[in-house]
Amino acid sequence: MPTKYNFEEIVSHLKSSGYVYQGSEIYGGLSNSWDFGILGAALKKNIKDLWWKEFIETSPYNVGIDSAILMNTKTWEASGHLKGFADAMVDCKECKGRFRADKLIGDATGLSAEGKTFEEMDKMIEENNIVCPECGKHNFTNARAFNLMFKTFIGTLEDAKSAVYLRPETAQGIFVNFNNVLRTSRKKLPFGIGQIGKSFRNEITPGNFIFRVREFEQMELEFFCKPGTDLDWYKYWVDTCYNFVRRLGIKEENLRIREHDKEELSFYSKGTSDIEYAFPFTDWGEVWGIADRTDYDLGRHSEASGKELNYLDPETNEKYIPYCVEPSVGVERMFLMICCDAYDKEQLSEKDERIVMHLHPAVAPVKACVCPLSKKLSEPATALFRDLAGEFHCEYDEAGSIGKRYRRNDAIGTPFCITFDFDSETDGCVTIRERDSMEQTRVKIEDVKQYIKERIAF
Ligand code: ATP
Repeated sequence: MPTKYNFEEIVSHLKSSGYVYQGSEIYGGLSNSWDFGILGAALKKNIKDLWWKEFIETSPYNVGIDSAILMNTKTWEASGHLKGFADAMVDCKECKGRFRADKLIGDATGLSAEGKTFEEMDKMIEENNIVCPECGKHNFTNARAFNLMFKTFIGTLEDAKSAVYLRPETAQGIFVNFNNVLRTSRKKLPFGIGQIGKSFRNEITPGNFIFRVREFEQMELEFFCKPGTDLDWYKYWVDTCYNFVRRLGIKEENLRIREHDKEELSFYSKGTSDIEYAFPFTDWGEVWGIADRTDYDLGRHSEASGKELNYLDPETNEKYIPYCVEPSVGVERMFLMICCDAYDKEQLSEKDERIVMHLHPAVAPVKACVCPLSKKLSEPATALFRDLAGEFHCEYDEAGSIGKRYRRNDAIGTPFCITFDFDSETDGCVTIRERDSMEQTRVKIEDVKQYIKERIAF
């Protein structure tokens, strides 16, 4: 069930409140490029910090690395990206619009073109008399491959030898470091290597705001295990990722786990599931993909590099290439899901409506705002603000009526407003107003830090 608000309204709120800016705006923008504003940068950082904490720091299994964006081109030959990382694309001969064939078919008919050959997709476009979404004509080129990797050159010469690619996923930086991690850690199977970083894909049809962009961040884990135990670990990671999303407060009715059927599976995968969200612009959109990739990646790199990427089992003395389960999620997709799920408008009285972002306090950009009732209370209120700001992201606001200040903070998702009033100096207490319930609690000033810390924990 998609959320009850339309997408344009949510996007407009995110743009106007400082979550997302148009990229290169003063030069007229750059198509589908977005910058994250003051609040957006903080939300993104909070998402990444939580993922890192849950999947790396506190995980009994995993370690983290940070590999380079530019890699030896042999990496992409071995991984299959140079040959195979291509979407089927068709051009409209009338208006010259360019579209991803599977998306064109899916949007027009609801049929899935996943796993279909280019010829089969051409046939589907013909048989269903699909028309161009831009000009309404039915006159397409045949589907052809379009490599999604951005190419650039190292050094001053722009020739084939100096060509390199911006990585289209962070995963390969992990596979090529498998031996390094084994050598420099004391890890035994099963264990995972994770990283967060930028990836680049020259998407044919980017869009839906930050859902599909050409430059994005991924949080990927490659979890290595003994062959034969992989399906159990695959289920474990599907559950763990789903629980993570639920713990962020995403509503159950807006989530589903979609298991790929046999036809849709990559030839090397034993199982793949997507955690999907009911975005307001589509039925369901992928947020997190979890795949059992068997020994495909380490096997390919082993073969191509001539370096053994094996594991010597200390218990059985067997040598084998571990199997790998990969949970991979985009930061921008998670960001968008969180914002779509949190956005709400409430009619408080006939004339009073508030916009409120019901963000989980752990990801909310601003955790608390100190609001003195009068400017005369600036000094003690600022002292409290300074004290809290050392612990979590806190703001100070003394402009406008207290009601307006509450509304401003509701609209950006601040979970707590702390009102410093004239009694505060005599009774040593402040009023803490909670965003969702709007309940107000009187709390001793020396207890405020702890009160909020407990409530913003994940
Ligand atoms: P899609 O089918 O939507 O193109 P995909 O199956 O190609 O996605 P993966 O290669 O599995 O995606 O990437 C893992 C995750 O990275 C996705 O689940 C998504 O969250 C994110 N992601 C992939 N492509 C993009 C993009 N162009 N913009 C933003 N996030 C992306």
